[in-house]
Amino acid sequence: MEARRRGEEPMPREYTRRRFELRQILMAKRKGRLENPSAGHATIAAIRPVMEGLLGRHHVALSFRLTQILTGHGCFGKYLCRIGWEQSPGCHHCDDCLEDTAQHTLEVCPAWAGQRRALENMAAGDLSLPTIFQIIVQSESAWNTAASFCEEVMSAKDAAERDRERTSTLPSRRRREPGAGELPMTSGLHEL
Ligand SMILES: [Zn+2]
Repeated sequence: MEARRRGEEPMPREYTRRRFELRQILMAKRKGRLENPSAGHATIAAIRPVMEGLLGRHHVALSFRLTQILTGHGCFGKYLCRIGWEQSPGCHHCDDCLEDTAQHTLEVCPAWAGQRRALENMAAGDLSLPTIFQIIVQSESAWNTAASFCEEVMSAKDAAERDRERTSTLPSRRRREPGAGELPMTSGLHEL
């Protein structure tokens, strides 16, 4: 960002614009990946028709937190480890998970059992990502239920991650810009 390059704190409007741009880039990349047959992952094939419906709908807003679950690019141990922010991919919120992913957070992690209840009722217990997508694009209330779960859980994971950041000895963590607040996004859907 220009202001940050000049050593100044960017204005809120610039944050808003940057987030909008990131979202546009993410959407474009996601759509490109979905259209690319070489992507070749069974899950992408399962999600594709749903995503096409989702991208064409105007009343839904793909929130930042929902995007993190959708892409796997957020405070998930596997992703943080991949980008060098964590030394291991395990989950910090439960004892037995060696690889924290979006699916673990959505479906398994016992730390979020309370937040998950409404989602489980909505999806009749099937919290696989393709099923969740199928449901939320068909109903605005289901969309809002999923968005609430993502907002609550990912906010908590982000807060815990910021606490760890303060005590991290990893050089890549110390280089992080103060107040950046957002993880870098790379292209493509996460591997499930
Ligand atoms: Zn966990």
